[in-house]
Amino acid sequence: HILFHYQLDKNHFSSLISHHQANKTKDQVLSLLIMSTAGHFIRCLAAVAWEAGKPLVMEEVEVAPPQKHEVRIKVHFTSLCHTDVCFWEAKGQTPLFPRILGHEAGGVVESVGEGVTDLQSGDHVLTIFTGECGNCRHCHSEESNMCDLLRINTDRGGMIHDGESRFSSNGKPIHHFLGTSTFSEFTVVHSGQVAKINPEAPLDKVCILSCGLSTGLGATLNVAKPKRGQSVAVYGLGAVGLAAAEGARISGAGRIIGVDLNPNRFEEAKKFGVTDFVNPREHDKPVQQVIIEMTDGGVDRSVECTGSVQAMIQAFECVHEGWGVAVLVGVPRQDDAFRTHPMNFLNERTLKGSFFGNYKPKTDIPGVVEKYMNKELDLDKFITHTVPFSKINEAFDYMSKGECIRCIIDMGA
Ligand code: NAD
Ligand code: ZN
Repeated sequence: HILFHYQLDKNHFSSLISHHQANKTKDQVLSLLIMSTAGHFIRCLAAVAWEAGKPLVMEEVEVAPPQKHEVRIKVHFTSLCHTDVCFWEAKGQTPLFPRILGHEAGGVVESVGEGVTDLQSGDHVLTIFTGECGNCRHCHSEESNMCDLLRINTDRGGMIHDGESRFSSNGKPIHHFLGTSTFSEFTVVHSGQVAKINPEAPLDKVCILSCGLSTGLGATLNVAKPKRGQSVAVYGLGAVGLAAAEGARISGAGRIIGVDLNPNRFEEAKKFGVTDFVNPREHDKPVQQVIIEMTDGGVDRSVECTGSVQAMIQAFECVHEGWGVAVLVGVPRQDDAFRTHPMNFLNERTLKGSFFGNYKPKTDIPGVVEKYMNKELDLDKFITHTVPFSKINEAFDYMSKGECIRCIIDMGA
């Protein structure tokens, strides 16, 4: 088969680009060149996880052309999320190696496979870890984003179409991750997991909307739905919780109470409009009691973004009777059980859960990008670090040390 060697051809591409500069923009020439790779294997760099907890290894891989309902994407920027770290450490997860991790990314479609009608080469896109097939009961329901076909699957290492991997290294297949595998210069993704966005949107910023940010933001905007002036408690001030706080700010919440066990989170959270802080460790009373006293009866809304079942119970029990709504976002441990007195429901408190902020990936995420474009949503404050692709392991260090909210990995640097 014909093989395009991205690293070698890049220089050749650059000279062609300067040659063409007179009458074509760089983007136009690049897209012409990229189109010529359609239907062929591409050899490019990927960061491969060979073993649990061992640094990723930068190496050349071959990326097969996209098959039925798939697209091949040139990844421009990707960011690191806790889920990548969890599956890299593989503690409590089915270990699947070698694997190309990564799921939050912005890129440009290089080519599309058979049956793809809504995307074409040159489209600017975000990859999403959970999909929207458009045909199942969930996709037909206005209320759900839990697609039957493309709902998140952490154990799958191949593509849905044939169960095979599109990545190989010296003929040996490398597993996919969440159907996205964005720690590679090129990746192949099911078209149902690709959101087409405004081509003007800066991919180095909006790539973080692929997962954690949209999850927290949507939990507040789509599910908790605070009214202007209302109080909102956010449990857990990691990336997801801070995005939930950003949702509360956008909603015009009067008071945003951040709850976290780590006092270092509070300074950061001020930038996100968090007005009050509660550290459960600094109180003798249960947190729900502290918040009820602070707010004369309870908060109007609460959003739990910790994964701790205690925090989930506290988040529910601290909302005001009569109208309070609590939304659970954190992923609990396998053997956790939620215990509360049923009277808390009879007193007209509502408990809800949310997956990916209740956003339908293809239908709704382009609109979230527009919120950033029209300056309603601020993303820049979430980006604390940037590293070139060659230093991707540093991003894992920042994340493990709890030093960053989001680290952008620049594939072109
Ligand atoms: P993170 O680890 O960066 O932040 C969690 C924060 O919660 C930390 O600051 C920690 O100190 C705090 N915390 C832990 N236990 C607490 C407690 N009992 N009380 C108060 N604070 C506590 O994590 P993140 O990336 O922001 O993700 C948050 C949660 O959201 C995780 O459970 C993650 O798995 C989940 N998540 C859910 C979805 C979804 O669709 N539902 C999507 C992405 C992530
Ligand atoms: Zn579906």
